[in-house]
Amino acid sequence: AKADIGLIGLGTMGSALALNIAEKGFKVAVWNRTTATTHEFAREAGALAANIVATETLEDLVAAIDGPRAIILMVPAGAPVDQQIAALDPHLDPDDMVIDAGNANFRDTIRRMTELSRPFLGIGVSGGEDGARHGPAIMGGGDPAHWARVEPILIAIAAKFEGSPCANLMGENGAGHFVKAVHNGIEYADMQLIAEVYGIMRDGLSMAAPEIGKRFLQWDEGRLSSYLIETSAAVACAHDEATDGPLLDVIVDAAGQKGTGRWTAIEAQHLGTPIPVIEAAVAARNMSAQRPLRADLAERFGGVDTLDISVETLEAALTCGKILCYAQGFDMLRAAAVAFEWSLKPEVIARNWRAGCIIRSAMLDDMAAAFEAAPETTLMAAPYFADILTETIGALRATVIAANGAGLPVPAMSAALAYFDTMRQARGTANMIQGQRDYFGLHGFVRVDSGAMDQHGPWADD
Ligand code: NDP
Repeated sequence: AKADIGLIGLGTMGSALALNIAEKGFKVAVWNRTTATTHEFAREAGALAANIVATETLEDLVAAIDGPRAIILMVPAGAPVDQQIAALDPHLDPDDMVIDAGNANFRDTIRRMTELSRPFLGIGVSGGEDGARHGPAIMGGGDPAHWARVEPILIAIAAKFEGSPCANLMGENGAGHFVKAVHNGIEYADMQLIAEVYGIMRDGLSMAAPEIGKRFLQWDEGRLSSYLIETSAAVACAHDEATDGPLLDVIVDAAGQKGTGRWTAIEAQHLGTPIPVIEAAVAARNMSAQRPLRADLAERFGGVDTLDISVETLEAALTCGKILCYAQGFDMLRAAAVAFEWSLKPEVIARNWRAGCIIRSAMLDDMAAAFEAAPETTLMAAPYFADILTETIGALRATVIAANGAGLPVPAMSAALAYFDTMRQARGTANMIQGQRDYFGLHGFVRVDSGAMDQHGPWADD
């Protein structure tokens, strides 16, 4: 029998996905630009080799798949995707479908859907190599009829949360890749918030890495229970043979990034939707990369004080910051749904993120429940989360104050607190901005008393 699906790109993610597909009982035909990799992959597939058809040419790949075909691309985002589509397209029938499963920019996905006169899906896949191999979260974008053609396979390979598969069509055209980008933006912020709490424990409370790791392990039993806290605990507890000390202490403090967090920040600016915690996290990675400059400035301005704060307060502060960050992410998704005319459903997105992906956490199940009850509200106003915010905002405030007092940077937590304080202020300070704009640009303002529009100050008469 012919293969149920095809897959191009046997790198980290593609080979793991192909094995996952084969394991779930589907026959998958694979092709890779470098043929040696294809052979090596087939050799190492073990018992799963029975469900794998290794091919050396694109003609052979296409011929090996049952029509109408579906072929997954798992190659680096950007030009490689366009090159691969161009190479593949002449071999395909009109009904054959291409699925880009890499981290494409959603604008590229929309462009490809428009340019290509064939079914096309853009799906975001999260969970790293392990997720791809044993159950990723899959965020689909495109036509429901096209999604339906591959849904059984995608559901079979996806992560399950209490039996419910984390593979859903998020919305039309680029929606899947957009949701994946926002997922990654939230991931950046989640990681940064944890890193800031780690910094306070390390530099403000003089705690050793394994001790910090133990705290994270305790937190993983509570409201913060999540894959990223689990990951952070494992990283903090790891031992380095060479120095006979914590591995974390010998890891260079410059964060890498592939761009999805940056895309999220850029798109938020286009949409005019506030995501300051995610933006702070992207900026923090950029600052982390400036190591030589930081070393110079440390000599000139360095010196950090210890501070006095309980680890329990830090746990509550992290909980608070996390809720504020997710509130921003979901509000951004809602703004995007309006701007791009996508039928995004926050409850479906929250449910889809409960397992398989990097930001999976216990809290996402509560978020899904909150959005099921009220899809249009911000998380900050959802009763369950409003109560937690009320309970923990004092801890976030105390943590930011203590860190600022000691000279320790907490950009994401500070951004979360400033967001909260701005959004709970009925009378803000933008009346001054409007006055300034009218003064130098005659942009006009609205009066609070009469509601009269297009008003000008006395300076307009000059
Ligand atoms: P790898 O670098 O491990 O693999 C890249 C694959 O793409 C290789 O098979 C390579 O073939 C092929 N390739 C590279 N350039 C071209 C090209 N111009 N034409 C055709 N094939 C090409 O990447 P990953 O598996 O890590 O990533 C793949 C996609 O998945 C990316 O979009 C990435 O952002 C996304 N992703 C990655 C995650 C991860 O944790 N790594 C998580 C989620 C998404 P060859 O063997 O010939 O070099």
